[in-house]
Amino acid sequence: MYSFEQLAGQERNIRFLRGAIRQARWIHAYLFLGPEGTGKKTLALAFAKALNCLDQQAFQAGQACGMCRSCQKIEHGNHPDVHLFQPQGTALRIDQAREIRRLAELKPYEGRYKVFILDQAERLTAEAANSLLKLLEEPPDRCAFILLASDLGAMLPTVVSRCVTVRTQPVPTAQMEAILQERARADGRELDPGDVRVACALAEGSVGKARDLAEGRLAGLRQAALQFVLNVGRWSAADCLDFSAHWEDKREEAGLLIQLLQGIYHDLLWIKLASGLAQGYLLHPDQAPALAEAARTLSLDAILQSLQLCRWVERQLDRNLSVRLALDVLLLDLRECFAGRDVPLVATEYEGG
Ligand SMILES: [Zn+2]
Repeated sequence: MYSFEQLAGQERNIRFLRGAIRQARWIHAYLFLGPEGTGKKTLALAFAKALNCLDQQAFQAGQACGMCRSCQKIEHGNHPDVHLFQPQGTALRIDQAREIRRLAELKPYEGRYKVFILDQAERLTAEAANSLLKLLEEPPDRCAFILLASDLGAMLPTVVSRCVTVRTQPVPTAQMEAILQERARADGRELDPGDVRVACALAEGSVGKARDLAEGRLAGLRQAALQFVLNVGRWSAADCLDFSAHWEDKREEAGLLIQLLQGIYHDLLWIKLASGLAQGYLLHPDQAPALAEAARTLSLDAILQSLQLCRWVERQLDRNLSVRLALDVLLLDLRECFAGRDVPLVATEYEGG
């Protein structure tokens, strides 16, 4: 649902945009700038709805009713006056810019405003960006441009200077946890608080990413990672290789697993260093007793080495090392660490790399 109400942590931006509609202080070109997943596209489509809502009372309040024909068409991506342009392959190209210019010449078909949303606007080729400059500077009547971007440095300064910049911020973790639980409850579901906490910590301030994680693969993966760290002391090398085999050819999930392992070793580090004070800082507070037990067994050196190993293998995965090989090496080495044996790989290659 594209609505202002769905956007957490953006109250200031929403007040600003609603004010622009209410006071008819219409600004024609916006740049919505912020990290991936901070709701730029939702904000743009919610804005497009508010601009075109057929409910006069809602429109005059700078809101969208969500129910009228216009709101529904925008929700379903088939409003003839609201256009979303996305990169073709790696770039927003000149033929797309030409199409935008052609459409902008036409009067709105049924809406109050024509709205052009350019997703990943930092991918405009120089040629395409240059051909839009005049349009951004003096848009035709009843025409609005919203450029979405996460990387200001990759944009032409001449484009940026013609737009009003609206910054979207990552949502704080605690607020994100509350939002995820609230939305799940609204759908009649209950999410595991432990999964939600970890999903939000991994999501880098993006509610969308946190929700994907919490409602997707994370649940099983978190349990698998915990199971490994808490039991590896009793595992044979063959058990480790068996475990590794689950992620053969699943690069993304293997990467997530390694991030989860790091989070668990980080918890162990906290417990080791801060003992009783650690509870409030743990990523997996629901596992505190089992983690405390593991921390008692492990030396500080072993925990630090395990953390370094995870980071090292994560980087090897980024460099396209085979998933199976990376995980085999990692899990066997983590087992060595647990047994208190030194892993030479860390000392030599990690420091050098
Ligand atoms: Zn409406």
